Amino acid sequence: MSESIHLRGVRKQFSGNTVLKDIDLDIAAGSVTVILGPSGSGKSTLLRCINHLEKLDGGTIHVGETLIGYMRKGHTLHELPEKRVAAQRQRIGMVFQQFNLFPHRTVLQNIVDAPLRILGQKRSDVQARAMALLEQVGLAHRADAWPRELSGGQQQRVAIARALAMQPQVLLFDEPTSALDPELVGEVLQVMKQLAHSGITMVVVTHEIGFAREVADNIVFMDQGKIVEQGDARSLLDDPQHPRFREFLASVL
Ligand code: ADP
Ligand code: MG
Repeated sequence: MSESIHLRGVRKQFSGNTVLKDIDLDIAAGSVTVILGPSGSGKSTLLRCINHLEKLDGGTIHVGETLIGYMRKGHTLHELPEKRVAAQRQRIGMVFQQFNLFPHRTVLQNIVDAPLRILGQKRSDVQARAMALLEQVGLAHRADAWPRELSGGQQQRVAIARALAMQPQVLLFDEPTSALDPELVGEVLQVMKQLAHSGITMVVVTHEIGFAREVADNIVFMDQGKIVEQGDARSLLDDPQHPRFREFLASVL
C-alpha cells in the first residue's frame, strides 16, 4: 500500500545557514516525483527530512495521515522518541548513492535481516519474499553471493530489494545511479522503471533526465533551498519556465 506525502512550510538550517526555505509540497500516493536541482540546492536534505534523519526548524511533514518525527501537544510539536521515529521510518524506504550493503552478509542475508529483526515475521515467509524481490531485480541467482562479488549496479539492485523487503509505503532515492560506472546505470534505472509501475510512491533525486521524462509524473526543480518550479513532468521538460530551470536543463542534457 502506498501513501501520499505532504510538506508544509518545511524549514531547515545548519548553523544559521537556511538550506530549506519554507517548502510546500504535495506528492500523491502511487506517483513518481523526480527532484532536480544543482548541487547544494537542498535535495538530499529534503529527502532526509521526510524520514526524519534531520530535525525540522519549522513546518510539518505528513506521510499519509502520520505526522513524521513529532507529536502535537496543543500548539507545540515535540520530537518523538527515537524508537517511535524508527517505527515510522520502517514505512519510508531509502536508497542511497552509496549502496551501504553489509559486507559480511550475503545478498540474501542483507535483505532478510531487517524484516526478521524488526517486523518479526516468520523466517520462511521473509525468505520467500526476499527471493521474490531478488527475482524482481534480476538477481535471484546471486542470493548467496557476497556484496564484494557483485558489480556496483548489482549491489544497488540488492539495495533496492532490501528497501522493498520492509514493505514501505514510500521509497526515496538519493542519486541512486551517481556512484555507478556509466555502463551500469541502465540496469538500475530499468529496475526503478518497473517499480514505478508497481504503485509505490517514489521520490527520486537524480540527474537522469531521460528517466524523468519516461517515468516521472511530476518534477520538482529546487534552487537555493526553494522549489522554483514544479508540475507535470513532460510539459515542464518540454517547456521550462524559470530561467534557472532552463539553465539547469541545458547543463545536464
Ligand atoms: P543537494 O543534495 O541538493 O546537493 P544538500 O541537501 O546536500 O544539497 O545540501 C544543501 C546545503 O546544506 C548545502 O549548502 C550543504 O553544504 C548544507 N548541508 C547539508 N548537510 C549539512 C550538515 N549536516 N551540516 C552542515 N551543512 C549541511
Ligand atoms: Mg545530494
